[in-house]
Amino acid sequence: MSQVALIGAGVAGLLCARDLNRLGIACTVFEKSRGLGGRLARRQHAWGELDIGAPFLTVQTPPPEWGQLEEQGLLVARRFSACRWQDGAVQTLPDQQHYLVAPSNNGLCHYLAEGLDIRRACRVASVEGGKLIDEHQQFLGDFAGVVLAAPAPQSQALLPAASSLNIDCHWQPGWTLLLQFDAPLDLPDIVEFVGHPLFQRLVHLSSLPGRDHRACYSLQLLPAACEALQGKVLEATLLPCLEALGQLVHLPVLLHCDRQRWQLVSGQRMQMPDAARIDEKQRIVLAGDWCSGGGVEGAWHSAGLAVAQLSQWQSACH
Ligand SMILES: Cc1cc2nc3c(=O)[nH]c(=O)nc-3n(C[C@H](O)[C@H](O)[C@H](O)COP(=O)(O)OP(=O)(O)OC[C@H]3O[C@@H](n4cnc5c(N)ncnc54)[C@H](O)[C@@H]3O)c2cc1C
Repeated sequence: MSQVALIGAGVAGLLCARDLNRLGIACTVFEKSRGLGGRLARRQHAWGELDIGAPFLTVQTPPPEWGQLEEQGLLVARRFSACRWQDGAVQTLPDQQHYLVAPSNNGLCHYLAEGLDIRRACRVASVEGGKLIDEHQQFLGDFAGVVLAAPAPQSQALLPAASSLNIDCHWQPGWTLLLQFDAPLDLPDIVEFVGHPLFQRLVHLSSLPGRDHRACYSLQLLPAACEALQGKVLEATLLPCLEALGQLVHLPVLLHCDRQRWQLVSGQRMQMPDAARIDEKQRIVLAGDWCSGGGVEGAWHSAGLAVAQLSQWQSACH
């Protein structure tokens, strides 16, 4: 029988479950979606398998295990050309190093998920004294410890009223347009926008190694632009974006387009102190990118604290 429940099958939840299993602590991961990976999601299109969330895994200090994963050929470190658009002027930036998984970054989550007990399409609705209930009021189990590894607002909604933990955050929309042209744009791999009314970042997805598509781009929109375009059909979102992009570079023929609507946490990236992530009484630990500095690096690091805390509780029980 599982001793620990993990809510969320993104990098943080899966890594935590894998490492607890390695310590002999049985875990069950509950994931509301059918697919694994959270914001490292992929989508299969007729035009290829696209990273619809993070195009890269960005780390300042690679975790020790990443060296082995590179040797195994799972992770690849690459440098990408980059530029910054600011007030109409384009400035070349130093190349940026990021990590990738082929054929899509979601492969990291499938690697971590091997052999784990995962309940997919299971949205946890309540966590009270270790007892989990799903959205249909079904009892999911009674656990000695719970890791909330969902994004901040979803973890916030799951905290029991009696919990000592406090998550202060707000949602904002963070949409991505996925575009395929009939030829690559005459731009570096990454364009960062500063002060643009619509755009945050443009990434040439097909320039990443091991991809099965060509001339595909991920165009990340600013929250304010998403709010202004809220409720509009894809074509109405696309039109102003293509017009603005066309002012920056000559646009080849657009072959395909799709839109991914993310809800992201607004404001600064958080770095919560360890004590602020642990509720001893309720046996809950918080994990996820948002409490450990953001990005895949934050998600990875956050799992370490959760594993240490749960193994400590576990050994105290014996
Ligand atoms: C457009 C975009 C671009 C990005 N670019 C980069 C980048 O360049 N570099 C980088 O390092 N990072 C980037 N990121 C961020 C990166 O994807 C995240 O930091 C990382 O994937 C977060 O992992 P996580 O495990 O903390 O959370 P998530 O991946 O969000 O996983 C949480 C999981 O919890 C599940 N869940 C939520 N509520 C419940 C519930 N009640 N019951 C059950 N399951 C639940 C969700 O479905 C999800 O699968 C980007 C993200 C996006 C969206």
